[in-house]
Amino acid sequence: SREETSYFGAGPAPLPTAVLRQASKVILNYNDAGIGITEISHRSADAEKILEDTKSALATLLDIPTQEGPDGYKIIFLQGGGSGEFSASVYHMTALWVEKRRQKIVQELGPEDETKVFDALRKAVDQEFKLDYLVTGSWSLKASQEAARLIGANHVNVAVDSRKDNNGKFGTIPNESTWSLTPNPAHSGMVYYCDNETVDGVEFPAFPAIDSDKYQVIADMSSNFLSRKVDVRRHAAIFGGAQKNVGTTGITIAIIKNSLLTQLAKPDLLRKLNLPVGPVVLDWPTIVKNNSLYNTLPIFDVWIAGQVMQLLISKASTDGPKIATQQSESEKKAALLYGILDKYPVFHVVPDKSVRSKMNICFRIGSENDRDDKEKKFLAGANERLLLGCKGHRSVGGCRISNYNAVSVEKVEKLAKWLEEFAQQQ
Ligand code: PMP
Repeated sequence: SREETSYFGAGPAPLPTAVLRQASKVILNYNDAGIGITEISHRSADAEKILEDTKSALATLLDIPTQEGPDGYKIIFLQGGGSGEFSASVYHMTALWVEKRRQKIVQELGPEDETKVFDALRKAVDQEFKLDYLVTGSWSLKASQEAARLIGANHVNVAVDSRKDNNGKFGTIPNESTWSLTPNPAHSGMVYYCDNETVDGVEFPAFPAIDSDKYQVIADMSSNFLSRKVDVRRHAAIFGGAQKNVGTTGITIAIIKNSLLTQLAKPDLLRKLNLPVGPVVLDWPTIVKNNSLYNTLPIFDVWIAGQVMQLLISKASTDGPKIATQQSESEKKAALLYGILDKYPVFHVVPDKSVRSKMNICFRIGSENDRDDKEKKFLAGANERLLLGCKGHRSVGGCRISNYNAVSVEKVEKLAKWLEEFAQQQ
């Protein structure tokens, strides 16, 4: 049964049982309408209310300023997953760079000579246009590769690749003094980072050392969304797939700064510059304008996310940021697991201590000679005890315990017990 099983998968991941119980009811009959939630129209009043309630819960949890005007943010729901937003980030940051650079050229040359402005812009794109990526794990690497696919590797600046000084492996976040961000970023340079690297277990301890007045900062928070406080105001955009901490697979949540939405180069200009124009379903201004309903949105997934958020709000303490209660629970569970992993020399936590993820705890067992055997035994023993989903990502091997919000303290304690028992048998 669900109660006997403890599931530590990296995503899709466990959801609160109370939410799933309620979900099984609304799938059959929503609001006593005689039809289920997956059957109602995404344009119905019910759907609209679900959207509004979910946005409002998210704004409460992460303290998102949602006022109109340049410093406010919009919350949108999209499809296409975190991967879709890798591409969306490139399309929008390219369009923002071009528009801001164009405005600067117009300031210098005057608007009247369109041909001159265009020629200068084309030259600027050829010589200066770069998007910066902090590559600290497999997902930021993938995002940077998508950028290179869309705009060409010559326009992508990998400002740091943390494998370089770590034997070719991810597991550190090098000091910012070693990062090579694009200088003078044409007043619109982008820095992209992945806040929590799901595969490699590396998490930024705090907002990276980026001057957010100078750079547009984009963060992928797919695997630590709603697990801790976020300095939303220092970001141009934040996104994350729902299927780990927030809900069911099917929606991606994005938080976009208003000032960005109004300063994007038009598709015609981008085409003339041989720069890519993204599909309309990934176009943030279009999705914002249509309140996330440009096309059919899986409202059930939004509902689930909303219920999960309500649960977090209901357990939050009354003073301080609403997400703080969940944050301290996540920290406590992670500390318990890392404590045992550090206690026994048979375990080796993969990332450096300073950047250990609270969500994805990655470790190896034994030495190079007996690792395969020991890890197999550990995972088999875990499965026997109904502690599921502890295998590392196929690209890196080893073990990974995903400590998402819906994994209770009690389930983490069960796993901690098995870790300890296993270590003592060695
Ligand atoms: N970013 C991170 C940090 C992820 O963990 C994942 C998926 N595991 C992705 C992006 C890609 O998400 P999706 O599969 O939803 O495209």
